[in-house]
Amino acid sequence: MTMINNDLCTGCKICQKYCTVDAILYSSEEKKCYIDQERCTECYVCLRQKVCSQGAIEPIELDNFYKQFQHVISDPVENHGVTGVTGRGTEEVKTNDVSGRIKKGEVGIAIDMGRPGMGVYLRDAEKVAMAVAGAGAELAPAEHTPLATLMTDLKVGKLVDECLNYHLLSVIVEAKCQENQLKQVLEALQKVEKEIDTVFSLGLILRVDENGENQTLECLNDIGIARPHRGKVNVGLGKPLSLA
Ligand code: SF4
Ligand code: SF4
Repeated sequence: MTMINNDLCTGCKICQKYCTVDAILYSSEEKKCYIDQERCTECYVCLRQKVCSQGAIEPIELDNFYKQFQHVISDPVENHGVTGVTGRGTEEVKTNDVSGRIKKGEVGIAIDMGRPGMGVYLRDAEKVAMAVAGAGAELAPAEHTPLATLMTDLKVGKLVDECLNYHLLSVIVEAKCQENQLKQVLEALQKVEKEIDTVFSLGLILRVDENGENQTLECLNDIGIARPHRGKVNVGLGKPLSLA
């Protein structure tokens, strides 16, 4: 937990502009700043950057599993213990030529929720996970993605109730589906985006055939989603362990 020591704070407000999610508030009564603990993501930017010349911003021991989860996902230099990956604890599908998590005929889905300035409550991540699972997508397991460690049932995407009000800087909901299911998964996302209090970007991984073709994105026209403007191409030159 990150706290402001009331005895050291001079109320200069300098720290406020550095907080990634506007969690540092000013009390005009006390003429000091304090941290809104519901909103703080434990990203530790204020601590790492030593933004307070008085040393008034202090780390307090993260006293439960969900607090620790919140910190390791929100702080980009932390390593997530289960997956061993820094930066939200997942490689997503960027290493698919080696991992082979997404097979031919499947679509990989990475829903990147929250942003600096906005963040994401886990209750909203749950809504999105349940929406895509309900549309037939298969959520990624805990050995690949941290969010799954909080799920009570990977098939439905429900998270443990105790975590729902924790605020993270960003978290990724990962899944995959068959190519012919993509349209219904995207329709589920269009529906759930109106029910959440944050933003997300959507990454898809598609595997092309021997002619370099894949028609799966044709369904975007039917549901009013613009064609993506950018993409990354993995040509498998690294170590193509997975040809499946
Ligand atoms: S920078 Fe330090 S002294 Fe100034 S308001 Fe923030 S915590 Fe208080
Ligand atoms: S740890 Fe992050 S979210 Fe919390 S007060 Fe510091 S900068 Fe803001």
